[in-house]
Amino acid sequence: MAKDNTAFEAAIWIDGAPRAARSGEVFDSLNPEDDSVYCRAAHGGPQDMLDAVACAKATFVTYGETLAKDRERWLQKAAEVMESRKDAFVDALIDEIGSPRKKADFEFNKALGMLRAAAGMCRHVTGKTLPGDYPGRFSMSIRKPRGVVACITPFNVPLIKGIRLTAHALATGNTVVLLPSEMAPHVSHLIAEVYAEAGIPAGAFNVVTGFGHEIGDTLTGHPDVDFVTFTGSSVVGQHINELCARNKTPVTLELGGKSPVVVLADADMSKTIPAICHGIFTYQGQVCMGGSRIYVERPIFDNFVQAFAKAASSLPMGDLRGENTIIGPIISDRQRGRVRSHVEDAQSKGATVVIGGGWSGNRPEPTILTGVTEEMVVCRQETFGPVASVYAVDSYDEALAKANDTNYGLSAAIFTQDINRALHFAQNVGAGMAHVNASPLHDEPHVPFGGTGDSGVGREGTEADLEAMTEMKWVTIQL
Ligand code: NAD
Repeated sequence: MAKDNTAFEAAIWIDGAPRAARSGEVFDSLNPEDDSVYCRAAHGGPQDMLDAVACAKATFVTYGETLAKDRERWLQKAAEVMESRKDAFVDALIDEIGSPRKKADFEFNKALGMLRAAAGMCRHVTGKTLPGDYPGRFSMSIRKPRGVVACITPFNVPLIKGIRLTAHALATGNTVVLLPSEMAPHVSHLIAEVYAEAGIPAGAFNVVTGFGHEIGDTLTGHPDVDFVTFTGSSVVGQHINELCARNKTPVTLELGGKSPVVVLADADMSKTIPAICHGIFTYQGQVCMGGSRIYVERPIFDNFVQAFAKAASSLPMGDLRGENTIIGPIISDRQRGRVRSHVEDAQSKGATVVIGGGWSGNRPEPTILTGVTEEMVVCRQETFGPVASVYAVDSYDEALAKANDTNYGLSAAIFTQDINRALHFAQNVGAGMAHVNASPLHDEPHVPFGGTGDSGVGREGTEADLEAMTEMKWVTIQL
């Protein structure tokens, strides 16, 4: 049963305490299952954002000097508090963004692991000694936190990204302003409560709920913001990149994708089909790494399509709280329109809808297309829904060339028993991540996560963020 949160107001958090928007306005966060009001959230405006940045900047003076052992303790405590509130987080992930229980559990556990891994970063903010070019010179590098880190998160994994980006910034001695998706304000409110209870100093972590198109530029274009880490669409990412360039603010961008999956004739189908279903239908396809372009060697093409269709059409669409449900609702009217239009456009231009295309309320059926051609929108654009296009190819070389024929470059997968081809693919596919005999959908706290081209700039992960969120300084002492 969905809980009634309509009386609840997700707040802005500045200086360690919740507050209303200066305007006093609120906005509705809708439950995507039926578009009923899930909760009301403070409708932050530009002045609220300026308050948050000013608070983060002022707090950096002291937070930037905190000891690694204290930050480690606070983040470990935050993980304990978060673990004790699992039910609240899972409920929010189900009712605020339409996650099936399985995805909500997965997201909670992944985010908790990331918070624990972040605690381990604190003692690794280190430098090294260097050989000097002059006699009597002691030379070293040291690492300093950058200052105020802006973290901007998408609707689909608001907890994973809301924890990972902010915890990495806090672990490395930076202060934070979080701008969460307007579709997930409650999740960010729960994160703020966890940090406050864990003893993270007031003002080190701030949140402004509201609409990115109204307050995002105030954040990313602010001269007192020292680093921006953004996860979201490629269009918004491009805009942020341009704005940050004006202030020379360094930025990490984790953006959209159109991930390729290659299936060679020698693949083990009993493992391939479930992995491919997982890769494109998890969270009804609203995943950046979703394997939406599937290239299959011609001799096995018909059998593959048949087996894939059979598996996909039996994916459970039941109660979101059911243990086995895979397909839930698409987040918003706008996104539903996008999924619908991609399928309709393909169908009108001659693609075959092997299964799917229909809807049950706000839930789309898993959809498999064949006969997709260049002039169809679904061929190159991110659909962000449960829509897979399957193409026949005549060779491995053709599969690799087609996989690389994209502006995106987030993740990729190949299914084969041929280790030479698997390694060749992993090395030559134009993507930031490549998986052999597994779906393109993977993440772990410490791996270099990210993409190339329209999928982004830079990498996330404990090691990558340790580099990105700190600045090196060269120091010499003449002995
Ligand atoms: P979105 O770009 O619409 O919004 C993302 C965030 O940007 C939201 O918090 C929004 O408030 C904010 N925003 C909007 N305008 C802004 C502006 N001018 N300045 C600053 N912030 C602004 O994306 P979405 O619909 O929430 O998420 C889906 C997209 O995110 C998909 O393209 C998906 O592939 C991508 N995504 C990528 C990854 C990854 O790690 N590569 C992970 C999850 C999602």
